[in-house]
Amino acid sequence: MSYDMNKIREDFPILGREVYGKPLVYLDNGATTQKPRSVVEAMTHEYYNVNANVHRGVHFLSQQATELHEQARETVRRFLNARSTAEIVFTRGTTESINLVATTFGDAILKEGDEVIVSEMEHHSNIVSWQLVQARKGIRLRVIPITDEGELRLDEYEKLFNERTRLVSITHVSNVLGTVNPVKEMIRTAHDHGVPVLVDGAQSTPHFAVDVQDLDCDFFAFSGHKIYGPTGIGVLYGKEEWLDRLPPYMGGGEMIQNVSFERTTFNELPYKFEAGTPDYVATTGLARALDYVTALGMDNIYAHEQALTDYAMEQMATIEGMRFIGTPKHKDAVISFLVGDIHHLDLGTLLDRLGIAVRTGHHCAEPLMRRMGIEGTVRASFGLYNTFEEVDALVAGIRRVARMF
Ligand code: PMP
Repeated sequence: MSYDMNKIREDFPILGREVYGKPLVYLDNGATTQKPRSVVEAMTHEYYNVNANVHRGVHFLSQQATELHEQARETVRRFLNARSTAEIVFTRGTTESINLVATTFGDAILKEGDEVIVSEMEHHSNIVSWQLVQARKGIRLRVIPITDEGELRLDEYEKLFNERTRLVSITHVSNVLGTVNPVKEMIRTAHDHGVPVLVDGAQSTPHFAVDVQDLDCDFFAFSGHKIYGPTGIGVLYGKEEWLDRLPPYMGGGEMIQNVSFERTTFNELPYKFEAGTPDYVATTGLARALDYVTALGMDNIYAHEQALTDYAMEQMATIEGMRFIGTPKHKDAVISFLVGDIHHLDLGTLLDRLGIAVRTGHHCAEPLMRRMGIEGTVRASFGLYNTFEEVDALVAGIRRVARMF
């Protein structure tokens, strides 16, 4: 498939709509992405023609639904380049994936006084999940500081390791700063200390190719809805040796082998972590979304979005009073900013009236806001279907709002 923008935009019907009588300019892809027809149609098709509960049925529909569900797992495996489908656990999203690891790793491995390393730029889901473990087990959170530009202080990172360090849990890409963290190097450092690493891939998977074997991460989490797939479905990749060591997360159907009141045994991987009826229609939708980005080419998506980001930063920098929050060397398609002393909420609300959808606030990263000495930002985040004309509309919109103040 070539990168034909007209064709791409036709694949996403919502992009053709208007808001307040203006063409929609959707720049909130960091929060969630729009869905191509192929995803919605595959899910509708499955509900109309295949629907039956998976795994336990002898009948035709159940077998067909199971086949689609397990094919989706194979599509995810290929997308991440995992060794085996046993390493692909379906969850509700990044948040649940991180909580699964925090809870089970916390129960099985962490003891009072043990340390988990996170960073100052984490999303709340990668902070609060560990604070819950902290409350139960008395662990200590160690925090990698960042520079004013929004890059991790790797010198400080290395100094955080000691004999009590048990896990590093870091984001691949910051949802506020756009920083692409050097996770491969950071994983090597952690492994040199015998410490496993969880990577939060919520903001990396939609923008560039990820290879979990090349990164050598021990766990990797991402959300379907941020990569053009349905809501309510996500993935936890875990190295088989780690998933084997961890206890189940939730109890119920699917995750057991045999149950008795005396003794219950658990299912093999990955089912041990998939209690209850999975969202087998959403897994099909996720697989079609991954097919979509794969056909377009992750490298082509990356190149397009980088060009858009560079152009946007260049154009926005010419606006009087423009302040970027996050100017790292390696920046992804996320731009957080403030203009003069205009409140971020006012700026976002007035842009909305021009048809431009951006996000405002703390972006679920309050510690990061505190570090940057601000309450919130306006955030424009790009997806594969955004155009240079939309960047022009954003820049013109910001100028117009700034003139009003
Ligand atoms: N981590 C990061 C970096 C994110 O950007 C988000 C979503 N904003 C999450 C985790 C949580 O993802 P979800 O809400 O899909 O579970």
